[in-house]
Amino acid sequence: MSTKELRERYEAAFMSNYGVPSLALACGEGSRIWDADGNAYLDLIGGIAVSSLGHAHPALVEAIAEQAATLAHTSNLFVNEPEIMLAERLRELLGGDGRVFLANSGTEANECALKVAIKYGKAEGRSYFVATENGFHGRSMGALSLTGKQSIREPFGPFALDVRFVPYGDADALRVAVTEDCAAVFLEPTQGEAGVVPPPEGYFAAARQICTETGALFVADEIQSAIGRTGAWFAHQHECVRPDILTLAKGLGGGMPIGACVAFGRYGDIFAKGDHGSTFGGNPIAAAAALAVLDTIDRDGLLDHVTKVGELLAGGIAATGHPLLAGVRGRGLWLALVLTANEAPAVEAAAREAGFLVNALQPNAVRLAPPLILTSEQAQSFVDALPAILDAAAEAASPQAASPQAASPQAASPQKEN
Ligand SMILES: *Cc1c(COP(=O)(O)O)cnc(C)c1O
Repeated sequence: MSTKELRERYEAAFMSNYGVPSLALACGEGSRIWDADGNAYLDLIGGIAVSSLGHAHPALVEAIAEQAATLAHTSNLFVNEPEIMLAERLRELLGGDGRVFLANSGTEANECALKVAIKYGKAEGRSYFVATENGFHGRSMGALSLTGKQSIREPFGPFALDVRFVPYGDADALRVAVTEDCAAVFLEPTQGEAGVVPPPEGYFAAARQICTETGALFVADEIQSAIGRTGAWFAHQHECVRPDILTLAKGLGGGMPIGACVAFGRYGDIFAKGDHGSTFGGNPIAAAAALAVLDTIDRDGLLDHVTKVGELLAGGIAATGHPLLAGVRGRGLWLALVLTANEAPAVEAAAREAGFLVNALQPNAVRLAPPLILTSEQAQSFVDALPAILDAAAEAASPQAASPQAASPQAASPQKEN
């Protein structure tokens, strides 16, 4: 069935919250992916920083198939070994004293963190939360109340929680906002959905110190940044500070739905029996997939690989002199091309035409979050193609300057949000 037919059926069958995506994808292998019409692409978005091992990785296929053929589901009424092995591995990677809750998505990981923080706040007489402007923590009513991005909050307010928003990256604003009445601060180590925006040097360490001094819980939302994305297992490890609670999800399962909330020290003991739960959380197939992801990253030295290929990619992009390109942000294989005009959808479309899947994340920012197994040659192929992609985008954006056949019919495809 063609992309055109699949898009029509999608439009008729689904709610309109995503619009109709421009492509239907059919299959993938490594960092290559094919659409329903048989066109091949280099996948530089990895299902929004999820497909850490690319597509159809043998280790992931084997782990999922073997677990599915053994025991697919237990519920939380029973213990299963894969979930224990995963929790133990996460503890090990994080210094040993963490306690884990397994969920099915990033949003659910944050709901868990929020419930721990609410309970802590009630016990200590702390009544409000602090999060950042333009930050993203999810779409459920709890996670949405922490999400600073106005356009997605506004239609669903007011919210029951008292959340105060501060500009991201401003340690002084954080110092003023966080008092001894604050239950928790929620921070991304680099803002993902806002456009892969890293904070100034030292911001995360300052946030750690502010939380330690006031007794507010420091919650690091690493849902997008964890599991090798930045070249470290966790982005906060670059800063040599540890949060009180950590949430992760996207890259953990390599494509299987899974999220985790890890609370350290005494904060790991805040929940009493019955305080929280999930029927699917700890699902053995998802846990087996996550273990395969962690094992493969370890065995294949992918953290160093991400650092090396990320530097090549970012360096190559930065060296591309083009009037539409202002620069590049981010670290590891988590980058944003920053544009000089609000033409990200045109760049996304031109890249697609040239055989590369990227994501128009903000009007002026294009996200790259490819599989961690992306090769140097594949990264270089994008760098080599970039000038022509930017030319095509610039032409499509101002058709009067373009020759008639150069303008892409898809240039006006809408920006996608997750
Ligand atoms: C994607 C994301 C979420 C939400 O995760 P879902 O799996 O979509 O529920 C929360 N926080 C951050 C930082 C994210 O990038």
